[in-house]
Amino acid sequence: MKPYVAILPGDGIGPEVMAHTLKVAEHIAPDLTFKTGLIGGVAFKETGQHFPKATADLIDGSAAVLFGAVGGPVEQQHKPQWHNCETNSILALRQHLQLNINLRPVHFYPALALTSPLKNERFAACNDFVILRELAGDIYFGDKSTVVENKQKVARDVAEYNEGQIKSIAHWAFKLASKRRNHLISVDKANVLQSSQLWRQVMEETATDYPNVKLSHQLVDNCAMQLILKPEQFDVIVAGNLFGDIISDAASALPGSLGLMPSASFNPSGFGLYEPAGGSAPAIAGTDLANPMAQILSLALMLEHSFQRHQAARATHMAISQTLDDGYRTSDIFCHGTQLCSGQAFTDEVIHRLIQITEKKNDI
Ligand code: NAD
Repeated sequence: MKPYVAILPGDGIGPEVMAHTLKVAEHIAPDLTFKTGLIGGVAFKETGQHFPKATADLIDGSAAVLFGAVGGPVEQQHKPQWHNCETNSILALRQHLQLNINLRPVHFYPALALTSPLKNERFAACNDFVILRELAGDIYFGDKSTVVENKQKVARDVAEYNEGQIKSIAHWAFKLASKRRNHLISVDKANVLQSSQLWRQVMEETATDYPNVKLSHQLVDNCAMQLILKPEQFDVIVAGNLFGDIISDAASALPGSLGLMPSASFNPSGFGLYEPAGGSAPAIAGTDLANPMAQILSLALMLEHSFQRHQAARATHMAISQTLDDGYRTSDIFCHGTQLCSGQAFTDEVIHRLIQITEKKNDI
């Protein structure tokens, strides 16, 4: 096992939620070493590059990457520091590490029933589910062009998949489904897109290796509707890069806030990068209003997947659930009758419960 975790806080709320998360890590994984590097606008300011070589070297020697967020205010995207910042940082990082699988757990905390956009009875029926999104192919990576034809501009982005790319995520998805409720829903647009027809064909072929898993298909437009109308039907969803991007953001709204949503990305050898699903939220950066949950839960995903520390991951989840049950809320999930906290105060409450949980476990 390589000796350290690479920490890339990035921009906006990234550094503050990362600082809170590292305090949690001191309690739940005191033996791990963390080394911090520059990425995004802050890296550009210091080095003239969004993803400097020193950061690539840091990552290459690490056991896993814990990432914050990058990017500047939307109205400042023309400034060199922010221009193409996300592309140069996140897409470059994904390509550098050859990350091809993105996993987003969608967890429904009973304490947040009133914060969710779902009606109470629908929220109560929801089960946790997981979305797997393919990260390395599709319309983001196919040929792109803007040309003039018949005196007008024409822009093209080619959506392209090969069988190997689909097979790789299909096996991940079936393995995950077989550890859960044996139900996999594959999302595509096979009624009109050839890339989706190949996607569906490879999913069907792979299904024969996993006879215990029931595979069904949903067209992406239907899936978007079903996520809102009947979210309780989902357990594991697998989708290509574009559709996965869209439905995972839609699904992330269901539990109550983007600030709750962690994610993990893996390459074919299982190396993991862990990050909140949201962005750098520049409007609230520096105020300590940001919810640190997504970053803390990304740490828990890292402990589980890169370090096989399942107990530590479970304890972190329990501490967060108890903190919510006891009524503590950051501003994004605040409602009448609950206690409004800064990110720091919320983290302190989580750590307080984490210490109690781990002490109890040690007593047993
Ligand atoms: P965003 O995710 O930063 O913010 C969307 C909304 O969610 C905002 O209202 C924000 O305040 C809120 N939000 C996000 N995280 C939160 C948290 N932890 N706690 C409380 N509220 C939270 O998306 P955006 O505003 O469209 O983009 C802002 C910047 O982030 C842009 O520069 C964009 O390019 C970048 N971005 C980066 C990533 C990434 O680093 N992975 C992802 C998406 C967007």
